[in-house]
Amino acid sequence: MEFLRPADWGEALAAKAAHPTAVPIAGGTDVMVEINFDHRRPGYLLDLNRIAELREWEVGEDAVRLGASVPYAQIMEGLHRELPGLALAPHTVASPQIRNRGSVGGNLGTASPAGDAHPALLAAGAPVEAESVRGSRLIPIDAFCTGVKRNAPAPDELIRAVHVTKAAGPQQYSKVGTRNAMVIAVCAFGLAKRFAELCAGAANPIHDVRGTASYRKHAVGIMARRALGWTWESYRRGTGRGAEGVA
Ligand SMILES: Cc1cc2nc3c(=O)[nH]c(=O)nc-3n(C[C@H](O)[C@H](O)[C@H](O)COP(=O)(O)OP(=O)(O)OC[C@H]3O[C@@H](n4cnc5c(N)ncnc54)[C@H](O)[C@@H]3O)c2cc1C
Repeated sequence: MEFLRPADWGEALAAKAAHPTAVPIAGGTDVMVEINFDHRRPGYLLDLNRIAELREWEVGEDAVRLGASVPYAQIMEGLHRELPGLALAPHTVASPQIRNRGSVGGNLGTASPAGDAHPALLAAGAPVEAESVRGSRLIPIDAFCTGVKRNAPAPDELIRAVHVTKAAGPQQYSKVGTRNAMVIAVCAFGLAKRFAELCAGAANPIHDVRGTASYRKHAVGIMARRALGWTWESYRRGTGRGAEGVA
């Protein structure tokens, strides 16, 4: 087995182009298990650990561009405000040691249906940035996994980042396993609160003297958000009744 150690992103892309069968290794928490159990014996391992930009993130106005190798522990600590769903999911991933190494890029690379990063990325509609020496492209997250442990990138492509929209409301993550810690999901669920946006998008209001169509669309979104909040509060209190007031 040959060990390729590119010093920067350009070298990594060139190495993947020259050796498309090379297996990238980031945190190694999946790759090393496969090698140790002899499930995989790649001719080349492509070590991504010297590539600083893969371990960085940029917070933009609407979205976070999250480098593929940022470890879960840093997402939990540094991005819980911008990306609460994605920061909640790793609380259920393995142990602190694995969370210090394991990454979202690696979770996507493995493409297991039990991967804990997937529900949060799917709920947020986060495209995956894949790059090769031929150029860069964004793969919609719902087109990224093409089957169990299969994904969309071409053999010469590497995952550079994921672009995760900043939360506009509460986000949650829930997982069922055989116990609460150190467990792979039997099933998992991620929720990003886009209810208001979806209601406004579905509305097709008239435009008349009482209000413009765009004002009505906007108002539907606000009322939907308020009504959902009231319903949730009433559900939590167990009263079964909605809010008394009107907006
Ligand atoms: C004890 C233990 C417990 C675990 N528990 C959980 C759990 O609860 N939930 C969970 O989801 N996972 C769990 N895992 C699996 C693993 O930790 C995660 O899937 C993690 O996200 C993998 O990230 P990594 O950086 O270590 O990936 P690596 O092992 O380095 O790589 C994983 C795959 O992604 C590919 N890859 C990595 N980076 C790139 C890139 N930039 N471009 C293209 N391909 C790339 C690799 O070639 C490989 O196929 C566990 C693992 C262990 C050992």
